[in-house]
Amino acid sequence: MFLTISTTGSAQSPATDLGFLLHKHPDRAQSFSTAQGTAHVFYPEATEQRCTAALLLEVDPVALARKARGKGRGGSPDVALASYVNDRPYAASSLLAVALGSVFSTALKGVCHTRPQRAAEPLPLRVGIPALPAKGGTAVVHALFEPLGWSVTAEPVALDERFPEWGDSRYVALTLEGRQRLADALRHLYVLLPVLDDAKHYWISSDEVDKLLRAGDGWLAGHPEHKLITSRYLARRWSLTRQAMERLELARLAAADDSAAEEIDNAVDENADTEERPVPLAVRRREAITAALRAAGASRVLDLGCGQGQLVGELLGDPAYTEIVGVDVSTRALTVAARRLRLDRLPERQSSRVRLLQGALTYTDSRLKGYDAAVLSEVVEHLDPPRLPALEHAVFGAARPGTVIVTTPNAEYNVRWQSLPAGQVRHPDHRFEWTREEFRGWAGRTAERYGYRVEFTAVGDDDPEVGPPTQLAVFHRSETTAKGAAA
Ligand code: SAH
Repeated sequence: MFLTISTTGSAQSPATDLGFLLHKHPDRAQSFSTAQGTAHVFYPEATEQRCTAALLLEVDPVALARKARGKGRGGSPDVALASYVNDRPYAASSLLAVALGSVFSTALKGVCHTRPQRAAEPLPLRVGIPALPAKGGTAVVHALFEPLGWSVTAEPVALDERFPEWGDSRYVALTLEGRQRLADALRHLYVLLPVLDDAKHYWISSDEVDKLLRAGDGWLAGHPEHKLITSRYLARRWSLTRQAMERLELARLAAADDSAAEEIDNAVDENADTEERPVPLAVRRREAITAALRAAGASRVLDLGCGQGQLVGELLGDPAYTEIVGVDVSTRALTVAARRLRLDRLPERQSSRVRLLQGALTYTDSRLKGYDAAVLSEVVEHLDPPRLPALEHAVFGAARPGTVIVTTPNAEYNVRWQSLPAGQVRHPDHRFEWTREEFRGWAGRTAERYGYRVEFTAVGDDDPEVGPPTQLAVFHRSETTAKGAAA
């Protein structure tokens, strides 16, 4: 059983930092004895530019069979033979996941005292597993890894290359590529390898639920296949699966804010009439926002109405942002945001870059002055229209960042959400939703009053008739001070 993890780097951030993050030195080959065999960790390549760590697990099928028998599993002679002569030594499986969990246990927790920043930031990663048993085939492999941000190459492995007519085996050769924090990548593998294998080779007890929820923290509750993952991981033991699903549901509820506009959008998104599972609108919105921030060259950024802090978290992952301030009126949202971002557990270098402030955007606030950019993502529609001028004054007049990015639903698009009754807004807390013309009108007037230039972008698929689901405006402060600007 074999798995490789590779990353790339440069002189400033060498790829060999992977050794620090994994707590295994690139110059040494090391062996560890695990419950099912011997695990070896070594580095086939380790340069500034490229570094690959390999985990090889040598399984002893005889010992394994003895162990299983010791647990009271007997059976017919055929079954007994199959437990000695099987694919265990070769195919990556739940055993490899167990080895991964024990050999890289500190890395799995995201702990790295020597390179805390590298542990906290997404790295360009490539994971290779040449033989992975995949129940359900390549479609399931895609459905499990893609929603987590991996780009997936899964090629079925022929049963026997000499006899193509025999067809494919139940194995795939898997390559995952993406920018991920190393700990997240390891936790994805730790959970999803046994899920794909769908045959646990050790006893399932209720502490497996804890292990699953711990390894799935932050990604499992929101995964579109969380049900499949949970039930397979827990070997279809329904009482445990139900227990896990209930706890995931609680985690989801805790993460849901009073104004969970984002979740509504996503729920509606899933019903959209597209063949492939669409990228959630909230994700596309954050992509558009970060692209606009990058284009503006911003490094000190306000996220006004930051909600649960998803955007703040994303910005935190990019060292280009030196100061990130999330502001929201809801203490509950800020509490959830602080927990999601693990502010209390971040190393000082990271935590000093981020602050969460409680505040109402309809009042001027001297703490918000002097930033490069401010984001108002899905916020303006939560204000009663008569309060909007107060927000305009506080943001464009008083805080006066160089760039302001505003996103809001496009009301015209609502006819495309099949599950949304005609004439309704997307979320009960939306006080209004603008058509493209209304938004452009408001943005143009606001820009003019406060001395900004404004341009517009579509977020999501731009429908030829009704436009995109989300509309985005980028305001750039003109150099001259305008009449409405506060001194
Ligand atoms: N920006 C996040 C959250 C949008 S939901 C996203 O794009 O997903 C709207 C958020 O705005 C909520 O968290 C709500 O508490 C906050 N909000 C609404 N009115 C506000 C006000 N007057 N001052 C500050 N925050 C406000």
